[in-house]
Amino acid sequence: MSRVIVRHACYDYQSLRPVLFEMMEALVDGEIHRNARVLLKPNFLCPAKPERAVLTHPLVVRAVSEYLLSKGCKIQISDSPAMGSFQMDVNFVPFTGSVKKDIGPPFGEIEMATDAIAFDTIINLAKLKTHSQMLLTLGVKNMFGCIVGMRKPEWHLKAGVDRNMFAKLLVQICQSIRPSITIIDGILALEGQGPGRSGTPRQLNVLVGSRNPFAADMAVCRMLCLEPGQLPTHAALGSMGLSDDSISIDGDLPQISNFKLPVLAPLSFGPKRIQGFMRKHLLQRPVVDQKRCKLCGECWNYCPSEAIFNDTEHIIFDYAACIRCYCCIELCPHGALKAKETSAGRVIRRLLF
Ligand code: SF4
Ligand code: SF4
Repeated sequence: MSRVIVRHACYDYQSLRPVLFEMMEALVDGEIHRNARVLLKPNFLCPAKPERAVLTHPLVVRAVSEYLLSKGCKIQISDSPAMGSFQMDVNFVPFTGSVKKDIGPPFGEIEMATDAIAFDTIINLAKLKTHSQMLLTLGVKNMFGCIVGMRKPEWHLKAGVDRNMFAKLLVQICQSIRPSITIIDGILALEGQGPGRSGTPRQLNVLVGSRNPFAADMAVCRMLCLEPGQLPTHAALGSMGLSDDSISIDGDLPQISNFKLPVLAPLSFGPKRIQGFMRKHLLQRPVVDQKRCKLCGECWNYCPSEAIFNDTEHIIFDYAACIRCYCCIELCPHGALKAKETSAGRVIRRLLF
């Protein structure tokens, strides 16, 4: 049975630090040795202020770093290049180099960040936020950040057109990297149409930690009054015959029944010959608020299916090509994108599902 530690916390550093020190002490359980090379993998995908709740809060990363430094560990913090720095003896290094690692069928060898494989210990510092494709971004999904650079959109394109297949990919990446500790920052969570700035910050004041990332995710599902199977990654684990729903909770797990989740609209429906039409006209899709859009190019440079174009004043989507990965929403630095279902699509989905 996997132990999950749940603690009430806030971002006042004087009170946050001892809470995270206590959680880390319990989770490490004497297994990290002096001079261990420890990689911290926060969710630092894009530049965003902490109050937007789209990234792991820097104070959570700082407290965990200080704990590890106090144990004599050598720390590296890695994720996206768009990071700031702390005044501490830690290295901030974006993931760059990749090595091939076999994560098992049907995906086989995939390229992963060299550092995610080479370090003695990986600590997964995830954010609790909604995701319009995968319902929630928690501990398991945070490990997808160990896929480097353009390999990430390539996998979105290969597997992201099928939600179950993408969830299976996330599960196998997480199993392959095996983070030693997962802590989910749910102090200021993101609800609604996440994962980007179109979601709404919501104060939950909770930290969830476990040595088992799947158990940590499951505890969050219980907290939000969800069946674990509603989370695509947990459903994928079940379809692989690997789900173990027995977790022991250390602490008070609040029950939050009114957390706003995104609508998980289907990624395709209808007979194959009309799926292109359905995709183009009826599926939930990213839409732009032209007033907020600064034409910065982040979205069209990243889009895995090259479905975003611009003229001098607007961005334009090719909804037939768009695979609904919602990376553009997550990356937009100006909160100009959100997922929206068409009225006709909503009616048809309700009739069919
Ligand atoms: S990332 Fe956002 S602001 Fe930049 S071009 Fe795309 S929609 Fe506009
Ligand atoms: S337009 Fe946005 S949601 Fe569609 S494929 Fe590109 S990044 Fe993904």
